[in-house]
Amino acid sequence: MTLLTERLLSQIEKTGPMSVAEYMTICLLDPNHGYYTRQQPFGSSGDFITAPEVSQMFGELLGLALAQTWLDQGAPTRFILVELGPGRGTLMSDMLRATRSIPGFHDAMDIWLVEASPVLRETQREPLAEYASKLHWVDSLDAVPDGPTYLIANEFFDCLPVRQYRRTELGWQEQMITAKDGALGFMLGRALPEQAVPERARDLPEGAMIETCAAGTAVAEDIARRIGAFGGAAIIIDYGDWTNTADTLQAIKAHKKVDPLDYPGQSDLTAHVNFSELAQAADRFAAVSGLKDQASLLAALGIVQRAQILALKMGPEQQERHHSAFQRLTDADQMGQLFKAIAIYPQSGTPPPGF
Ligand code: SAH
Repeated sequence: MTLLTERLLSQIEKTGPMSVAEYMTICLLDPNHGYYTRQQPFGSSGDFITAPEVSQMFGELLGLALAQTWLDQGAPTRFILVELGPGRGTLMSDMLRATRSIPGFHDAMDIWLVEASPVLRETQREPLAEYASKLHWVDSLDAVPDGPTYLIANEFFDCLPVRQYRRTELGWQEQMITAKDGALGFMLGRALPEQAVPERARDLPEGAMIETCAAGTAVAEDIARRIGAFGGAAIIIDYGDWTNTADTLQAIKAHKKVDPLDYPGQSDLTAHVNFSELAQAADRFAAVSGLKDQASLLAALGIVQRAQILALKMGPEQQERHHSAFQRLTDADQMGQLFKAIAIYPQSGTPPPGF
């Protein structure tokens, strides 16, 4: 039992069962015991590895894609570079190194990092030290000023809390978390009217589950509003699919799947991103690209050529590691197909390179 288990059990005793979204928020961001607030979850010794931690090529190619979009949009003399959930700062640092030689890009930028975790904010300071005068940290995108916005988010939306609804013979019921014999357990709430679930769920058969991510749609809408009004572009990468009708809540601890209720605050809790939900939210204000898988996005951005250039300067051992990192990012049975991407860009413009 973790410290959070006791807290959750006593809260449920007092106020009744909680939604999966409330559970995720407490587990990930509780100020004292939350997964992201209290520790360093990344790397081979941590619980999981993200694409920028696999290879510098990931950040380099995405940085260049955003910089090219900035050029294509007439190189606005002031713009905002945003990263949602910057982790260890690796992705931003690789993006900045790759774009250093693009005339005017760094002079025009101001960098805004949306990061909820005080521990990770400290970690991000070091790889970004040379840009200290341009860096700002905020808790949410709302706090970022308006202006042309070039935004990247990798494995951010999957951390946002989802609510889950199951279709049963009674109709739609929300999946809740309750206390059973001193332990956390799932239960279904009372039957809800059809209008309680989004339209996309109306025709689903009994047994289906849908997940809604209100926090994610709010962020997608805000991104699109900024891009629609001031220009810019956003690239969102995550695991998930255009849509899903299954329970995707998952917990990872030390690179292994564990029960999402077993280690609250000590395992990474995520849900697959439902890209159609984000696209629908963004659609009112900006254009949204089709869905691309990570392998074809990176291929279109020139990962093969970049990998070859980097390999030229490497010894045999380093080359071997480099090759397996390349495979990890692009192979269909590794990150290549599980991870997907969309771009948001102005209705009057063209999508960023790669889309
Ligand atoms: N983008 C990084 C890290 C992904 S992990 C990479 O690719 O390596 C998720 C990141 O999002 C962490 O930095 C975490 O602290 C942050 N995060 C999670 N939920 C958040 C929220 N609601 N608001 C702001 N940051 C959040």
